[in-house]
Amino acid sequence: MDKDIIILGGGPAGLTAGIYASRARIPSIVIEKGLTGGQMAATEHVDNYPGFPDTVLGYELSQLMETQARKFGVEFVNAYITSVERADGGFVLKADSGKVYTCRSLILATGAQPTKMGIPGEEEFAGKGVSYCAVCDGPFFQGLEVAVLGGGDSAVEEAIYLSKFATKVHLIHRRDKFRAIMEIQERALKEPKIEYHLSHVATSIQGTKDVDSITIKSVKDGSEKKLPVEGVFIYIGIQPNVQPYENLVEADLQGFIITDEELKTSVPGVFAVGDVRAKTLRQITTAVGDGALAAFNAQRYLEAL
Ligand code: NAP
Repeated sequence: MDKDIIILGGGPAGLTAGIYASRARIPSIVIEKGLTGGQMAATEHVDNYPGFPDTVLGYELSQLMETQARKFGVEFVNAYITSVERADGGFVLKADSGKVYTCRSLILATGAQPTKMGIPGEEEFAGKGVSYCAVCDGPFFQGLEVAVLGGGDSAVEEAIYLSKFATKVHLIHRRDKFRAIMEIQERALKEPKIEYHLSHVATSIQGTKDVDSITIKSVKDGSEKKLPVEGVFIYIGIQPNVQPYENLVEADLQGFIITDEELKTSVPGVFAVGDVRAKTLRQITTAVGDGALAAFNAQRYLEAL
């Protein structure tokens, strides 16, 4: 096996695992397919990460974590892993380039991505009015009307956030009750710019070059209406990025990896951290805690071998 530990994914959980493994002098690499930072890098301001009372840019925090990891000797590999398999004495990871990486212990830190609605216009207008990140794109909709799809904490929270910029925020939810916690719902109710479309689903997004409207349908009587919006923000949940190792470890019904308190998965030597694992709170703070704990337990696993 080439490495003691491979950390798959370079978001806050993976970077922290790298920092802890390297400080323990365990030969390890972080494999990342894109830029380090993951969803954190796509977040504009991070206001709830301790130590930055005057906020910090998500991109900047990502760079700081990567710099710190490199300082302690973490090796970074830019590769797209397509399969992960068990092998004698460890694990074999294959990249789309044909390159193969092997390790004795594996930390899965591949994060999650927004669930897609799968309606006409969603893909066509992605980046042209359709967004999955209000914090990244909200300011582009200053003085315009937007729609938010979903009824969970994210949708309601982001509808409140978007009302800082938009003239009107249409909040479209498929049921007549929100899933979001009451505290968030109460804050939304105080925001006059939010217009509610309960028991409605979006059926298509229209436009020419950019989005100019969304069609929604009542789930009660089937009637349709078109809302003139220039932005559509989709918050209908997240999906774990587990494609390369879907059948390797046990997952819950939504596909999030099940771990114990030590972040061990169902396979000895494999740990899961951050948004990809089944957990109740997905934040940068919880991701970094996961990363530290998994690196520590991977070290103990290697010592016991
Ligand atoms: P979520 O809680 O899973 O909510 C997803 C929402 O989208 C639900 O209201 C769901 O409707 C709706 N939905 C799902 N599929 C749909 C479809 N195909 N068409 C229309 N609507 C659909 O996801 P989330 O809001 O992204 O939150 C994810 C996790 O992060 C949660 O654990 C949440 O508590 C946490 N979070 C916390 C905060 C905070 O504490 N401030 C902020 C954001 C997120 P139904 O209700 O009908 O199922």
